[in-house]
Amino acid sequence: MNTQMSLNDLSGVVEADRAHIWHHLTQHKPFETTEPRIIVRGDGMRVWDQKGKEHLDGVSGGVWTVNVGYGRERIANAVRDQLIQMNYFAQSAGSVPGSRFAERLISKMPGMSRVFYVNSGSEANEKVFKIIRQISHKHHGGKKHKILYRERDYHGSTLATMSAGGQYERNAQYGPFAPGFVKVPHCLEYRAQVETENYGEWAANQIEEVILREGPDTVGGLCLEPITAGGGVITPPEGYWQRVQEICRKYEVLLHIDEVVCGIGRTGTWFGYQNYGVEPDFVTMAKGVASGYAAIACMVTKEPVFEMFKTDPNDPMDHFRDISTFGGCTAGPAAAIENMAIIEEEGLLENTVTMGERLMGNLRALQDKHGVIGDVRGRGLFCGAELVADRASREPAPEKLVQAVVADCMAQGVIIGATNRSIPGFNNTLCLSPALIATPDDIDALTDAIDGALGRVFA
Ligand code: PMP
Repeated sequence: MNTQMSLNDLSGVVEADRAHIWHHLTQHKPFETTEPRIIVRGDGMRVWDQKGKEHLDGVSGGVWTVNVGYGRERIANAVRDQLIQMNYFAQSAGSVPGSRFAERLISKMPGMSRVFYVNSGSEANEKVFKIIRQISHKHHGGKKHKILYRERDYHGSTLATMSAGGQYERNAQYGPFAPGFVKVPHCLEYRAQVETENYGEWAANQIEEVILREGPDTVGGLCLEPITAGGGVITPPEGYWQRVQEICRKYEVLLHIDEVVCGIGRTGTWFGYQNYGVEPDFVTMAKGVASGYAAIACMVTKEPVFEMFKTDPNDPMDHFRDISTFGGCTAGPAAAIENMAIIEEEGLLENTVTMGERLMGNLRALQDKHGVIGDVRGRGLFCGAELVADRASREPAPEKLVQAVVADCMAQGVIIGATNRSIPGFNNTLCLSPALIATPDDIDALTDAIDGALGRVFA
């Protein structure tokens, strides 16, 4: 077969997809009668499918990834040049773009100092779990090994990250899971479990209760998303993060913030946690690091953690005995350097704040118009609208209707998302996360599409 086929030649592509591709998160039965969608081209905020149909992408490549938009030749050229110069060597040796990107990244993360390269968010999170376990073995006789995670949070698709996974839909039918992972309650004020003046503090105190129940000398780490993404676009309530930080310090629990979605600009700051004045011990990131132009993820920590592994050079067992083969690919950091430069040079953090405010404003106006919108949440270009069957009781809108809204937008040429079933019955939050380059017209086109869809679906 000619491997140099034109990028515009689509002959046989749908047939090959039907015959050989197992799509992610997809039930394939409908493809017996319908065509799978194949995305052929992208430019800026827009993508085109195999039928030539244009779509406005309201979800940055489906899963909060393409932060700087499609078709960036500058990134492609940097990756090409780097691959010709030096494509790969295991990360037991360093690389030029690896060093340069790490330096730039750390300059955006006061307090942090070390970058460990891997190739997916799941893997980055697993590295933290392993480091916490190793610290427990080195310093606490293996006892301080438990890792706390939160209901509705997601940290990856591997079995260890699913053991720290707070979403019903992702986990059902894949157990048993790894021991030593303990769940704490979510912090979604709209679905508060109690009536209290200070819900943020109450929700954080639930974490303390779990630590006390399990025994502080057994709990080594706490893993949280800064804003829960797929579990419902859950922005933290007032005071939550300050109290979480206090609790972690009090019980010497290492704080791991999963920035796989929020990292690299999504909320209008480089990292989501930077909105809340928290000082984590570990930060993991993936999707937006190179906006999907290359596969790269990072586990970042600070010097005191790193120093714990710089001990006796004669002890072959004392360092972090971990490798990720493709953490040595230079395409990732080469792309990430350009990605970060684009965000800075084009003022995309500032744009994210301004366009995020516009998006929230538009969604609030839709909430005034459509009784089905129960709650609107978000920060920067990361917003959600929770749909309810009844505003007073807050009963979630039926999933079929939520999916019908997404499908109606798709028919209009606008791609939006819906969160997944983090709790049975709760698949009811529309999700918007356009690229950080969005213009006022793009934002209005997204919310206009939702306006029309809600009117038709809930007529
Ligand atoms: N953490 C969060 C918060 C995520 O949303 C995801 C992916 N959706 C992951 C981790 C896992 O990342 P990956 O798919 O790259 O393994």
